Amino acid sequence: MNAEIQDNLQAPIFRHLSETADELGVECYVIGGWVRDLFLHRPSNDIDVVVVGSGIVLAQALKDKLGKKAHLSVFKNFGTAQIKSGDMEIEMVGARKESYDRNSRKPIVEDGTLEDDQNRRDFTINAMAIRLNKAHFGELVDPFQGMQDLKYRIIRTPLDPSITFSDDPLRILRCIRFATQLQFNIEERTYNALSKNKERLSIVSPERIVEELNKIMMAKKPSIGLSLLEKTGLLEIILPELSRLKGVEVRNGKGHKDIFLHTLQVVDNIAAKTDNLWLRWAALFHDIGKFPTKRFDEKLGWTFHNHNFIGEKMIPGIFKRMRFPMNEKMRYVQKIVTLHMRPIALVEEEITDSAIRRLLFEAGDDIEDLMLLCEADITSRNEEKVKRYTQNLIEVRAKLKDIEQKDHVRNFQPPVSGNEIMETFGLAPCHEVGAIKMTIKEAILDGIIPNEYEAARKLMFETAAKLGITPKK
Ligand code: ATP
Ligand code: MG
Repeated sequence: MNAEIQDNLQAPIFRHLSETADELGVECYVIGGWVRDLFLHRPSNDIDVVVVGSGIVLAQALKDKLGKKAHLSVFKNFGTAQIKSGDMEIEMVGARKESYDRNSRKPIVEDGTLEDDQNRRDFTINAMAIRLNKAHFGELVDPFQGMQDLKYRIIRTPLDPSITFSDDPLRILRCIRFATQLQFNIEERTYNALSKNKERLSIVSPERIVEELNKIMMAKKPSIGLSLLEKTGLLEIILPELSRLKGVEVRNGKGHKDIFLHTLQVVDNIAAKTDNLWLRWAALFHDIGKFPTKRFDEKLGWTFHNHNFIGEKMIPGIFKRMRFPMNEKMRYVQKIVTLHMRPIALVEEEITDSAIRRLLFEAGDDIEDLMLLCEADITSRNEEKVKRYTQNLIEVRAKLKDIEQKDHVRNFQPPVSGNEIMETFGLAPCHEVGAIKMTIKEAILDGIIPNEYEAARKLMFETAAKLGITPKK
């Protein structure tokens, strides 16, 4: 037996599975992702088991053997069962043969042999099985040379790729996702079948699409997947707002940079700094407003006025279509997108205390994430420029720290509340209350008064007097 297989089958669960299958007299294999990851040295606790017979019967017998420490769930409709034991999750299913209908990803399923079951798998590296029955314990069944593909780092479908992708188009995205996560190449015929079947994506639910996109975004270099999505024409279907950023236009000898390529670089940069999925999405969307705002000006050349605000406005539509959560996650992405130019813009004028206070006030606790994006946003090839921008951001960071310690405006609430204003002057909610409150807030952010109660209360009286409002007797 291969030494790696032997090592990985040491866990007692495999001995129990082996005995149970032999007692029932059924062929039993561990298959799919767990086997692939074993050879890639990515140990996993998700174990898929195929039995030539009933997965549910095997699971019930295994549960009897393991006793109380195992937890069994049966999914009768799917003919599958799951056992949780310690930190392991074992999914058991009978070997099956599948045939597809054109209008659905859901196949018609019948009982089959191991070979049938391997034929229905998406990629050669995902189709390998290791036998668990005692007489053949640890034998690898690899009908499609998955081991060789692992060695040469290739993603390939076991059967005709076009049929495989057309049958279940989710596999198109899985293909690109694995290429991104594993940094493997996609074999040529498999690659060509990706774009050939791109229209089939219409039968995949947005939730499934997003699940794969999130995995691509969480990979070490998301740009691999994003660029594959673009090249195969899938991005145009899934996220047209992004694919439109591709390309360079030249007018009067003036070009602009390829915003799509720049964006990919920014996403890779941020991925090196954070595992925050939403910050990674914010990086992907940060320049999304550049397509609708692009203009050519005879004097200025290419401009993208207000692209950050337009980007912010585009996000709810994208989130809705993609079935992303339309909650504080979305507002966070919007905030980062809308503020993404502020720290850099600060430097171009002069870094005043007041500008820093305003930035801190608007970014709140997301200021660190915003700074990470700004740093990731520096992708110029001009070393001089990179140095200068980097240095500028270091200065902004220092200033932020300074002001934060001094003024505490990060999650700032004006020290005099609307209620207090209404109370003091005997007012109902009205325009004047808002105006007084706003004056106090602005004065604090501009550093005219300190962020303190006494000073704010004094200004409240002064402002009210100017408006001709007198305190309640
Ligand atoms: P990961 O768990 O990292 O997402 P995985 O390969 O384990 O990767 P799962 O979704 O857990 O993916 O699926 C387990 C196995 O089931 C795969 O390795 C593959 O053999 C098979 N499989 C999953 N989805 C499909 C599909 N859409 N078409 C064909 N086979 C699939
Ligand atoms: Mg898995």
